Amino acid sequence: MSVETQKETLGFQTEVKQLLHLMIHSLYSNKEIFLRELISNASDAVDKLRFEALAKPELLEGGAELKIRVSFDKDAKTVTLEDNGIGMSREDAITHLGTIAKSGTADFMKHLTGDQKKDSHLIGQFGVGFYSAFIVADKVDVFSRRAGSAASEGVHWSSKGEGDFEVATIDKAERGTRIVLHLKSGEDEFADGWRLRNIIKKYSDHIALPIELPIEVAAAEGEEKPAVEWETVNRASALWTRPRTEIKDEEYQEFYKHIAHDFENPLSWSHNKVEGKLEYSSLLYVPTRAPFDLYQREAPKGLKLYVQRVFVMDQAESFLPLYLRFIKGVVDSNDLSLNVSREILQKDPIIDSMKSALTKRVLDMLEKLAKNEPEQYKGFWKNFGQVMKEGPAEDFANKEKIAGLLRFASTHGDDGEQVVGLAEYLARAKEGQDKIYYLTGETYAQVKNSPHLEVFRKKGIEVLLLTDRIDEWLMSYLSDFDGKSFVDVARGDLDLGNLDSEEDKKAAQEVAKAKEGLVERLKTALGDSVAQVRVSHRLTDSPAILAIGEQDLGLQMRQILEASGQKVPDSKPIFEFNPAHPLIEKLDNEQSDERFGDLSHILFDQAALAAGDSLKDPAAYVRRLNKLLVELSA
Ligand code: ADP
Repeated sequence: MSVETQKETLGFQTEVKQLLHLMIHSLYSNKEIFLRELISNASDAVDKLRFEALAKPELLEGGAELKIRVSFDKDAKTVTLEDNGIGMSREDAITHLGTIAKSGTADFMKHLTGDQKKDSHLIGQFGVGFYSAFIVADKVDVFSRRAGSAASEGVHWSSKGEGDFEVATIDKAERGTRIVLHLKSGEDEFADGWRLRNIIKKYSDHIALPIELPIEVAAAEGEEKPAVEWETVNRASALWTRPRTEIKDEEYQEFYKHIAHDFENPLSWSHNKVEGKLEYSSLLYVPTRAPFDLYQREAPKGLKLYVQRVFVMDQAESFLPLYLRFIKGVVDSNDLSLNVSREILQKDPIIDSMKSALTKRVLDMLEKLAKNEPEQYKGFWKNFGQVMKEGPAEDFANKEKIAGLLRFASTHGDDGEQVVGLAEYLARAKEGQDKIYYLTGETYAQVKNSPHLEVFRKKGIEVLLLTDRIDEWLMSYLSDFDGKSFVDVARGDLDLGNLDSEEDKKAAQEVAKAKEGLVERLKTALGDSVAQVRVSHRLTDSPAILAIGEQDLGLQMRQILEASGQKVPDSKPIFEFNPAHPLIEKLDNEQSDERFGDLSHILFDQAALAAGDSLKDPAAYVRRLNKLLVELSA
């Protein structure tokens, strides 16, 4: 062993300590994945070197044959992985192997429950990478040197996976990284050629560079020790370059885990080769679960970009719109230049046409999933539905397609689950129904019981119930689907069109005429609080309701804007009353102006409460109500 200098002991970042602890306790049932994770890192390191060497060929000095070697020592109980990739400097080792750079990690850790099964899922989504070495090893030594730096600038990193690690500067002749795992007692099964070979075949066959294992050959004549020869055990070709028909599902799945740093299989994938004006291959995956940082602004997103098989960059964001940021995959272009940069990607017209083609691919894949695997699509919607709802605003061109993928709760379901698609809604619409009705609100319980739905219930017309925070905003971007326009049932003067019979319409007109006096009296009593008063034809059980003006902001948007500190334009509701309700009849017969005033304000406030709004003057409401209660009991 070479001389070690500048030796120091450093503590792991808190999150690393937590992760190490949890991982060792929750991933014991699938220990062999440590090898996949370390090979995946080695392969990334080689990709990075290959890319950097395009501009600086001298980085390849001492060996341009890029590979990974896995070996073992049965007696010493060690497994060793060696790559001749980009390597790490002392500083790299301290930061990369001592901290976790992902944003939102501390938050993520809080979600861990201590329940090993649940946590192992969460950790899977998080990705454990290098630290998985400690599933099987009680000591890990890393020897590394950054390509291009002097042999004297190697680093030896070592840790028992507890609270701290040691680093020292060493001499290392070859660039790249060698990782030595000192197997825990009971884990020596991994120091075995067959076992390692099988694990590599199972998880890492798709890795595009050779992974070699030693084979013993008989000692040459006159030699005592058998010579070691290396044998490539994986297929060692880029998966996406192979024809679809030759690739097994398992291979697609393992490749996904490698690029997505996910432990779970993907839900679906789409592999394509485009030839013609533009030439590129793409392999796009829909994950099964949402990553923990889906809503973190700085979370990694985008595809892995290759140019003519050479890895160029991770997280190339220009190939997909933001609402599809959960898609993982690779794109390999023959048209881009190898020294393409993020800035160039943002401007290149080639990228625009690739982006629209790839977006369409993803939407097609989701359509297929929804059609062929509705149960799986439900799971997809639970995980990614909120993000898909950003689509219509961002991607005007695909608005109709995205709308078809949306799922909603509705009055025809009973548990508030978002499972109804617009095509399904229209397929079972009432005869003569040429609108798509919806209602937005805070909670499912609130909208489900909203008085706005009374007439729809009576007529058996389905209404979509929208309670996600972004729903009202979403609906402001959707005006129609399949030629049928959307109608907010809490907005404007509800016109049921053909769904109301001629008699209904005539009767309504007559009632409106008969109640003109009451309307005027209410206008005077409610004064400034309302924009308008009118007879309602959407109520069967409730006495009154507040409708939103056709052009006014709804409650949800108002609340969002207010919460973000913006000034919201004043708007007044329309007060609609149900002439058949006993309370309204009573009101109509009320002689005392004071009592009329109190009762109409109570009805107004109740209607606001039923809509999920808060009262402007709650104390006045309570005072008026109590006054009535006292009179009642007197
Ligand atoms: P991730 O791979 O998700 O970034 P890891 O914990 O697996 O997380 O690795 C952390 C970092 O350590 C990597 O991003 C890389 O910078 C560095 N690293 C790990 N293994 C190697 C290797 N074999 N060669 C060079 N760098 C490596």
